[in-house]
Amino acid sequence: MPNKTFETDISNVLYINLTTKTSKVERRQELYERCIGGTGVATKLMLEEFKEGTDSLEPDAPVIMAIGPLSGIYPCCTKVVSMFRSPLTDEFGESHAGGRLAMAMRFAGYGAIVITGRAERPVYLSIHNNDIALKDASSIWGLSSTTDIGKILRTVEPVTGKRSIIRIGVAGEKRIKYANVNVDTYRHFGRLGLGAVFGAKNLKAIVISGDKEVNVPDINIYNDVYKKLYDQIVKTDLMEKYHNLGTSENILPLNQLSGLPTRNLQQSFFEYADTISGEKFADNYLIRKISCANCPIGCIHIAMLKTAFAPSHEFEVIHVSYDYELLYALGTNLGILTPEGILELIDRCERYGVDIISMGVVLAWATEMSMQKRISSDDTLGVLLKWGDIKSYLRAIDLVLESPNEFYSALANGVVFASKKYGGEEFAIQAGGLEIPGYHTGLGNIIGLTGGVRHSHLDNAGYSADQKAFKNGLSDEEIIDLLIYQDDLRGVLNSLTICLFSQAIYTYDTIIEALEAIGIKKSKNELMKLGRDIFMAKYKLKRKFGFSLDDVKFPSRFFETATTNGMIDEKRVKKAVEMYRAKRGI
Ligand code: SF4
Repeated sequence: MPNKTFETDISNVLYINLTTKTSKVERRQELYERCIGGTGVATKLMLEEFKEGTDSLEPDAPVIMAIGPLSGIYPCCTKVVSMFRSPLTDEFGESHAGGRLAMAMRFAGYGAIVITGRAERPVYLSIHNNDIALKDASSIWGLSSTTDIGKILRTVEPVTGKRSIIRIGVAGEKRIKYANVNVDTYRHFGRLGLGAVFGAKNLKAIVISGDKEVNVPDINIYNDVYKKLYDQIVKTDLMEKYHNLGTSENILPLNQLSGLPTRNLQQSFFEYADTISGEKFADNYLIRKISCANCPIGCIHIAMLKTAFAPSHEFEVIHVSYDYELLYALGTNLGILTPEGILELIDRCERYGVDIISMGVVLAWATEMSMQKRISSDDTLGVLLKWGDIKSYLRAIDLVLESPNEFYSALANGVVFASKKYGGEEFAIQAGGLEIPGYHTGLGNIIGLTGGVRHSHLDNAGYSADQKAFKNGLSDEEIIDLLIYQDDLRGVLNSLTICLFSQAIYTYDTIIEALEAIGIKKSKNELMKLGRDIFMAKYKLKRKFGFSLDDVKFPSRFFETATTNGMIDEKRVKKAVEMYRAKRGI
């Protein structure tokens, strides 16, 4: 019989120092009992590890990755939380990814991994159960495609089963401030620049696998709860949308609601939305749907892009994953009219390993600057940026990566940096320093992005509060209450590393049941308190990083373009920020 109990596995924290090439494992049972896992544990570890004043790209800057007690053993509990100081916003960085990583960490026997230091030369980290090694990565440093890096590492680390490979592309190596970390080809630690932090540490990749076992107190009780959850996922329509069209289903409804940022948010609807809708992609380009490990949904939609590469009908076929945010960032926001064009742009960004939302917003801002003649063709090195021009955008993406002059170097630092240097801050569409996701729905979205711990739409789903306000006419205070409820609920879900798409399944009641079946007793009140405590702990971290709501500046574009709920006035937003702040006690 296996001798590893459930608690023993998850409370192991693996500490790795790349400078000293050392590692150790500490059992942190009290930490997991108090903070449960995922974002709760990562926040506490970051508070322990972060030395005040450490820059995001310095060797001492910690990277933390954490999973939770449901990871790998319940359906849709697939996420890994990464935490770091963001090189893009220079403050709190947190990003979540699915794929196989949570499963691999769980079965390798680690609840969290803490990485500090900087390797002397490019390395990758090889973790197979208790075997931990730093291996030379010079031969894959500089390789042009993140997909190829995965293929090579699969060959040189030939383990099967519960394995995950995460890696950076050239963008991370070059410390592009919004470089991402690719997870198992089709998932990412996308936002806020974790890829640049890996690059600064000379850490090209992590290969992790394990075949340990997880014990539960009573297998029959566990099986019953598992089956109940599984049946709700596959036999009801609660998650059907994600399997069917995926999140790109949102293009048409958001367009109809005037909540879809278009051409750098000059409009909130795209006249050609029909041509790039989720339906259009599904009918003409979709070739398969895949899932994170332990998820029966398969929301990851993969399109086939056929491109001619030589005369005589010689074609190359590439597979590109797409979703709502990507169709916005490299579609509507750049005025691209064809699915092929969007897929080509996505593929280019994927190869380099950059956050596509940030890249789309940066290019949209640059286009407006160019069209207003506030930058010259000397700045753009002759690239004529204009809406819908796929070739120019492909070239611009290459140049951002190459950064051959000051202008493209500025673009590589994000829209806040670029607009401070060249002007156009009024239409640099960002909140809290982070390029905005694909929503312009109203007050809830703006406050949610501004006050949310990582300035992400996933912090508290302000866009959803706005849609409720549109239907039911909520007051500003009611919108803020919804945001606060979601802030805390998501603190709980992200501590359990539950995919947010399954939150209709994982209510407080089912979470309590799922935890109890594996020997963890928590009441609803305890969970709600945990959510609040995590939010406050993150704000403590944000303050350490220098964030203050007093310093927030809104681009005037937010107030010049109609939202789903009509025009929004800046004074009203500022008043609502104060209300959010007072209610949250931050
Ligand atoms: S719904 Fe999608 S993102 Fe969520 S776990 Fe399943 S495949 Fe992964």
